[in-house]
Amino acid sequence: MILQEELFCSRDREAVKPAGLRRLSLSAFGGSNPPLCKDKIMKLVLFDVDGILLKFGAVGRDYWKVIIKKHFGIETNRHNIDMQGKTDRAILAELLVLEGIKDPESDKRFLIALNDIGNVVAEIIKDKKLEKIPNVENFVKQLIQEKHIVGLLTGNTREKARAKLENAGLWKYFKAGGFGNRSQKRSDLVQIALEDVKEKTGVEFEKKDVFLIGDTIRDIRCAKETGVKIVAVATGEQTVQYLEEEKPNYLFENFNNFEKLIEVFK
Ligand SMILES: [Mg+2]
Repeated sequence: MILQEELFCSRDREAVKPAGLRRLSLSAFGGSNPPLCKDKIMKLVLFDVDGILLKFGAVGRDYWKVIIKKHFGIETNRHNIDMQGKTDRAILAELLVLEGIKDPESDKRFLIALNDIGNVVAEIIKDKKLEKIPNVENFVKQLIQEKHIVGLLTGNTREKARAKLENAGLWKYFKAGGFGNRSQKRSDLVQIALEDVKEKTGVEFEKKDVFLIGDTIRDIRCAKETGVKIVAVATGEQTVQYLEEEKPNYLFENFNNFEKLIEVFK
């Protein structure tokens, strides 16, 4: 049997200064109260989904047409707007405004449609296998092994992220997150993720110990606006050169240089 203390503190005992770890509750660790592991800085690493965990565009965009037809009776062909880095809540609102619905959020169909996106996407991908970004799964596993907490910060609704990541076998790694059904503003999702992490794991992180992993300049701006760190990885559609202009804290071409990536979180 592994003791809670071992589970939490067994690796990397090199002396590093205290932690963004303020408090641990009982819930995340099976009911007993684990001692704080004071020689280890635990980080919260929040992963974007599209372009970081899964290949960008793997699901296509036709589900937007399905959702808008199903809930609003409108045939739309405007689903080729720029969607990168936007939340699903913002995209749905934008598409509906383009179709002449002036204040989509006040329409009682809006939340029903938003919450149905996950079901529609799950149906579309049920016979497909979504493609993971090379090496990202090993990176996630390594972070967990080093006792960091991994979560999600994505414009996808929670249920859409779940459908896609379950398909790829990745959902099981993530304890909590900020999802795109909660706000039209991506930057709001950071605080939402921090609260969700606190609720699910009992750990309250300081922003200096929070990292976003993202593939677009919107991820970089989101991190800067909210005072957390950003590791930009050019595994989506935006190039290293393009991302560099936005001055992320860290920038990688892909997840292949494993050792360098892990160094960021030491
Ligand atoms: Mg992305």
